[in-house]
Amino acid sequence: MSDTAPADFLGAPREVYTVDELAELASLPAAGGGKAAQRFAVLGWPVRHSLSPGFQQAAFDALKISARYVRVEIPPERFAEAVAGLKNAGLTGWNVTLPHKGSMRDAVDELTDSARKLQGVNTVLNDNGRLIGFNTDGEGWVKAIREEFQADVRDLRIMILGAGGAGRALAIQAAMERCERLILVNRTHERVVELADYLQPAFERTSLMGPSDRLVALPWEEARIAEEINQVDLIVNATSVGLKAWDAPVLPARVLQPHLLVYDTIYKPDPTRLLQEARSAGCRTANGLSMLLHQGAASFAIWTGQTPPLDIMRRTLLKALGRA
Ligand code: NAP
Repeated sequence: MSDTAPADFLGAPREVYTVDELAELASLPAAGGGKAAQRFAVLGWPVRHSLSPGFQQAAFDALKISARYVRVEIPPERFAEAVAGLKNAGLTGWNVTLPHKGSMRDAVDELTDSARKLQGVNTVLNDNGRLIGFNTDGEGWVKAIREEFQADVRDLRIMILGAGGAGRALAIQAAMERCERLILVNRTHERVVELADYLQPAFERTSLMGPSDRLVALPWEEARIAEEINQVDLIVNATSVGLKAWDAPVLPARVLQPHLLVYDTIYKPDPTRLLQEARSAGCRTANGLSMLLHQGAASFAIWTGQTPPLDIMRRTLLKALGRA
């Protein structure tokens, strides 16, 4: 097939590619016709819901980069086979979402500092067959907090709810930023105890507060949370509570105070019950769309070496969610 074959001859990209269809990624059509010079994907299981193809493709198109970005659905038991297939198809890079971030860390040839520290890979650059693993989740969250609240993570006293993949990554990032205080709360308490042990060395510098006060693993108990909130500036919901419109707020309204910044990593529904209650309590609030945007923009910069067109990416995301 010629490199200049028209897009309609190559066929429109599928909504989702399976592991058995990876060979097709070698000849994806470019938006303007012909074969895309560079191909990218988001890998997950499931992945149909991912908004990444829309806003990454908009960025490539805006900068007139001949590229195509698609979704690839990879069941965990076919992960190794899929990585080989992506390399064979000559993809320039890919994003990684649940449940593959940990497996990708073990599959790449080289890990950047952020991926090693955050213990997972969400962005891969295929450098002539050598896979380099990055993690832009933490960086994306830091930029989101700055953009939403005009505040730096390092200056804040932060309470993170949740210690799954996202909560853990944000807690590690907050520790890397040397935030003022970090209060970790999770339904399964052992997970935050273990996480706090891991983060302890980052909090051992000389300070007016001792390390035990600067880093706290709190049980999921309303009275303890309410007590700590007096000494917290930012609350981050990194649990999955709120993903369903009928979920109760992850924290009861009575513990919220007007001085708080409240960031929900969930962006759909918007607002979540937590954000509704927080607004009623007089808090400043923001949803996780900015985190999604900035982690994706950082991936784009890694792949292209170019400044991501943030406004176009943001507008595409808002439009996809019917909020433009
Ligand atoms: P995960 O690994 O499955 O972790 C889920 C977390 O939610 C765990 O801490 C879990 O606690 C907690 N949880 C679940 N049900 C709960 C309940 N009924 N009460 C209290 N806690 C509960 O998921 P994840 O990947 O970390 O994702 C967590 C959230 O982050 C999701 O809402 C996701 O949408 C969001 N996220 C957003 C972005 C973004 O770009 N905006 C990126 C990644 C993730 P246990 O440990 O006790 O089970």
